[in-house]
Amino acid sequence: MRILKKQGLIISKTRMRTTSLIVRVFCDDGTIVPLLFKGALSSRKGDSTSAYLLPFALLEFLYYEKETRQVQTASTVSIIEDFPAIRIDYETQLLGAKFLKRAISVIKPGESYPEIFGIILALLRYWEKSQKTPDDIIWTGFLLKILTFAGFAPAIERCAICQRQLGNKNIKFSPSAGGLICNRCPSPDDAILVGENIPKFLQYMLGNSFPQYEKLNITQKSSKQSKELMEKFWIYHIA
Ligand SMILES: [Zn+2]
Repeated sequence: MRILKKQGLIISKTRMRTTSLIVRVFCDDGTIVPLLFKGALSSRKGDSTSAYLLPFALLEFLYYEKETRQVQTASTVSIIEDFPAIRIDYETQLLGAKFLKRAISVIKPGESYPEIFGIILALLRYWEKSQKTPDDIIWTGFLLKILTFAGFAPAIERCAICQRQLGNKNIKFSPSAGGLICNRCPSPDDAILVGENIPKFLQYMLGNSFPQYEKLNITQKSSKQSKELMEKFWIYHIA
């Protein structure tokens, strides 16, 4: 048995027996670890531990790791960075939970995705500062980044079929082909004609951080289509 220290975000809390909690944590090394907080809800210890077990806060956990156990026993928890803007009301919390749920849905047991943890943390930090960018744009960039780091990167620079330059006209998007396709290639059944700025927007969203999305000059129609393309791609490859 060894003591480990990890930072992470709480995914869920489940009560066990009368006073204990099992907390699932998305850790900064990109793994998901279930931790047992013994007596966290008892009147003696409750004032300290459970008060720190906040959703939408970067927490630091100390716990005892025993490899034969599925749930590790937690020792202490402390707050490293808090994002109270996301807990401001029920709707905002639900939206935050929707992002977190998507991020962890691509993580397979025993595998680690530190980049995906980095994406969700960057989103929480951005959220805390400003919310000027429309939800569709944030959601598109978020899905695009998660897909890319989960190993399902859609082709957005070159044609998914022939790998050549996309050209400027009649560019389509096909989840089954793997992304954008040029007008020289045959269209699969699920191909959708995209607006001419869409390839540029997608490239910008993947290559830039969330705060830089505020500089994007994108129509509502284009951001809506970008979001639909990413959702369709997600459904075909992941869900
Ligand atoms: Zn092509």
